[in-house]
Amino acid sequence: MHPATIESNIKLIKQQLDHFSALSPLKKAPPRVIAVSKGHGKSQMIRAIHSEMTEFGENRIQEAIEKWPEIKAVHPEITLHLIGPLQTNKVKEAVRLFDVIHTLDRLPLAEALLAEMQKQGRKLPCMVQVNTGEEPQKSGIFPENADEFIAIVRGMGIALCGLMCIPPLGVPAAPHFALLRQIAARNGLEELSMGMSADYLEAARFGATYVRIGTAIFGDRT
Ligand SMILES: *Cc1c(COP(=O)(O)O)cnc(C)c1O
Repeated sequence: MHPATIESNIKLIKQQLDHFSALSPLKKAPPRVIAVSKGHGKSQMIRAIHSEMTEFGENRIQEAIEKWPEIKAVHPEITLHLIGPLQTNKVKEAVRLFDVIHTLDRLPLAEALLAEMQKQGRKLPCMVQVNTGEEPQKSGIFPENADEFIAIVRGMGIALCGLMCIPPLGVPAAPHFALLRQIAARNGLEELSMGMSADYLEAARFGATYVRIGTAIFGDRT
């Protein structure tokens, strides 16, 4: 995608979110935009950084390792979010490179993350991924198990800041956003990571604090 387009996409999305949040009955600040740079190269990421984007998301550890360490060294202001599944054997790399984990979804991962964070002296804020659609092929804690899992993870001493979901394809996302907000509210969790290119305004309407946007910023992935 032409660089100027990345800039205007970012500007437009932020304007929409500002406008939308001002009108919303929730009276909340607009969600922060995470630019999902998976499938895109460094030059596009740099264009986004030059458009004042400071939050980025990647869903694969290996790809992130290939793209981010150099750029982060030059731009320490960047917050890198892990938004894809994390295997226990990749926890070391993940804790070293990422700043926020959105995809905490099982106890062994929580244990491995905690041990590695203590080892590296890094305390990353984490979110629990909730499988709001109860889809068997998708990661995430089922809604009925969320309260218990949240309590256990907190008890371990993990800095839990919120919840994340990826609603099923082809159905309205609103009930899923509403459910995620409900679970967060009753557990006293601030952050709601929900909404992607197709539904970020809807997510904002339901109180998202982070929207994760790839295609609407960078264009189609190759
Ligand atoms: C790829 C991805 C996104 C961004 O998707 P777009 O539709 O391109 O905006 C958001 N969240 C997760 C978890 C993703 O894997």
